[in-house]
Amino acid sequence: MKNIDWGKLTFSYTECEKLVRCSYKDGAWGPLRVTTDMTIQIHAAAAALQYAQQAFEGLKAYRGVDGVIRLFRPLENARRLADSAKAMYMAVVPEDLFLEACRISILENLDYLPPYGTGATMYLRPILIGTTPKVGVAPAHEFEFMVVATPIGPYFPAGFGTTPFIINRHVDRAAPLGTGQYKVGGNYAASFRATEPAHEQGLGVLFLDSKEHKYIDECGGANFIGIRDGVYVTPLSASILPSIINRSLRTLCYDFNIDVEERQIPVEELSMFQETAAVGTGAAISPISRIYDPDKQLTYEYGDAPGPVCCRLFNTLRDIQFGRAEDNHGWCTIIDEH
Ligand SMILES: *Cc1c(COP(=O)(O)O)cnc(C)c1O
Repeated sequence: MKNIDWGKLTFSYTECEKLVRCSYKDGAWGPLRVTTDMTIQIHAAAAALQYAQQAFEGLKAYRGVDGVIRLFRPLENARRLADSAKAMYMAVVPEDLFLEACRISILENLDYLPPYGTGATMYLRPILIGTTPKVGVAPAHEFEFMVVATPIGPYFPAGFGTTPFIINRHVDRAAPLGTGQYKVGGNYAASFRATEPAHEQGLGVLFLDSKEHKYIDECGGANFIGIRDGVYVTPLSASILPSIINRSLRTLCYDFNIDVEERQIPVEELSMFQETAAVGTGAAISPISRIYDPDKQLTYEYGDAPGPVCCRLFNTLRDIQFGRAEDNHGWCTIIDEH
């Protein structure tokens, strides 16, 4: 175990020791390699650099109360990366290769896996990029798949809490028939001009549907949910990323007899919710305190403390991830420890 002050880890990148890589060439994936070099050498004209031919994933490994290492629903990430790869015209990483790369990344960086009780976890960032040099507009036929690992501190160092958000009608993160439903870096580059000024003011950004700016789309890097009279409501949209955490929370709702609605949410309906939150792997659930609508000069208020439904879902999910509760849905992949 590394001499890391686990309690001081923040929700940002800390260098690990090993990078897991795999190259696709001549129509086939080669062997997995493990390097101690975190840098990669690619041609300056690589398709990833010229045309953003790239996709990524994000998932976390948890050291449980029983010492067991659990990776949360990695097969879902493998499938989503395959969808993104096809959409970006890239070679698909086979599911077993994806899972093995994640497993090796954890085991090779085991000294960096935070101990139980610190709230810290190990974040894995699988990345797929097109490496063929391309100056004429065309996709690559060679690809590099990598898994970067980093220990990260808890999303809420001061305890489960709320964040204020702001609606943005002046920047769209994805077009209606664009790439919003895929986990690709380009969507993020395209939304920095909305998210960065908001972050400087301590605000998260709520994007609206880019066709009419009438419905809630998502929170940039997380899905949106609202609780209305005991019902879990989440947007139906072709331009939002299908969040694995959102899907898991919906399953927990069924367990709890909480009704779920996946439908369009008009902006005005924000006044009808008792709780709202951003959901995704980073925070699991990040409850929203208030949503400011600068164009309408309106603020929707949800209170400074997380609401009861968010708390219940958050605690249940965390208990499963940290091995404190029965994993009834078979969500956790056990990574054997040596
Ligand atoms: C990764 C991501 C999410 C959250 O997905 P999870 O699988 O729950 O982590 C939501 N929206 C966007 C745009 C994302 O990139």
